[in-house]
Amino acid sequence: MFVDKVRITVCGGRGGDGAVAFHREKYVAAGGPDGGDGGHGGSVILHVNDNLTTLLDFRYKRKYSAQAGVNGQSRKMAGKRGENLIIQVPRGTVVRDAQTNAIIVDMSTGEDFVLAKGGRGGWGNAHYATPTRQVPRFAKAGLKGQERDVILELKLLADVGLVGFPNVGKSTLLSVTSNARPKIANYHFTTLFPNLGVIYVEEGVSFVMADIPGIIEGAAEGAGLGHDFLRHIDRCRLLVHVVDVSGSEGRDPVEDFDAICAELHDYSVDLSNRPMIVAANKTDIMDPASDNLERLRRRCDDLGIDLYEISAGTTQGTRNLMRVIAERLRTLPPVTIYEPEYVEEVVEAGDPSLLEIEHMGSTWLITGTWLERMIMNINFDDYESRNYFDIQLHKCGLFRRLEEMGIQDGDTVDIYDFQFEYQR
Ligand code: GDP
Ligand code: MG
Repeated sequence: MFVDKVRITVCGGRGGDGAVAFHREKYVAAGGPDGGDGGHGGSVILHVNDNLTTLLDFRYKRKYSAQAGVNGQSRKMAGKRGENLIIQVPRGTVVRDAQTNAIIVDMSTGEDFVLAKGGRGGWGNAHYATPTRQVPRFAKAGLKGQERDVILELKLLADVGLVGFPNVGKSTLLSVTSNARPKIANYHFTTLFPNLGVIYVEEGVSFVMADIPGIIEGAAEGAGLGHDFLRHIDRCRLLVHVVDVSGSEGRDPVEDFDAICAELHDYSVDLSNRPMIVAANKTDIMDPASDNLERLRRRCDDLGIDLYEISAGTTQGTRNLMRVIAERLRTLPPVTIYEPEYVEEVVEAGDPSLLEIEHMGSTWLITGTWLERMIMNINFDDYESRNYFDIQLHKCGLFRRLEEMGIQDGDTVDIYDFQFEYQR
């Protein structure tokens, strides 16, 4: 079973709660607050594993959650941070947002990617000891981790894609020219999942070629192997169209050629415009009296497509074809890496009267649903992001409300552990 598209849910771990605790020792009447902070929740991280070639593992497990942070404890003991969850994916996995279909990341470069951030741990009450208020009874709850529905889609990274009808010799060609050992048999539907092979042409010159299930294979049987498989060659820089010119199966090579070109066009115009080379295969068993090869050559000439005669079976002409391909690749742009299209959700400030405001000495703690959602999307290491946050809070009238409640210059405003000094 080959799986190349799945939908999963990923969840960052919840942050641990901060503790409310008070220092206690014999002979010490009333100690100060010493509740520790909750640990941050773990994140869900994507990691490329080059030993994987399908998304099969995701078929049976749909939800992936990183560990929650542990709650803080007394004696200023911070809770342990939740462990990250590392999800291994094959190289070339494209991740999309399930709702909008926007590309979040293309896992092709080998860099890890944080797909769902863990929630921040809450502060324990030890943070809130102030000269005026020695025994704060409050601490903070941890924040929820980020939750996302995503679609993983495998788009192999290959320079060259083999296309053609079933049984024309695609797998054979890959096997005689590369390290790949695809299944070869004289019946249709043998290739049920893509094979990648590395072809070494000469020192320092190599390329990757992909053999995908035949376009037509199984489609009529409802095996779901129709156009879908073409996504694997979406990124290919060059297509090698293998055509059986022997007539051994009673097929007409020009009709075959046109049918495949039409399928490519149906799937995507972009793909049908991809540079192409034709490999006229099975020349070893060609009927000398047949005009198959000449007719196909004329068709290709008309379209300006180069044709090379080969026999994958006897390897006649295959080395030359590989050299031609390598030469051609030198002139073509590199394999496409998809740019992210996804933009983080911008959460605008809501109604300040929906917020809860606790006032402890000179510290003002502000919590509430929209504020929590907003803060999850703010990156406090980034000036622009912080500035956006500040402007939003001003605009919504939060500070007016605080002034009505008596906030003074120099007081501390605390929003989910993000603290700043209030200045009018
Ligand atoms: P695919 O479906 O396009 O991958 O075709 P395969 O590579 O599985 O080959 C189908 C059949 O054609 C197998 O029996 C191969 O041995 C045979 N075949 C492939 N190339 C040649 C060739 O150049 N000459 C001959 N005589 N047979 C070939
Ligand atoms: Mg095959």
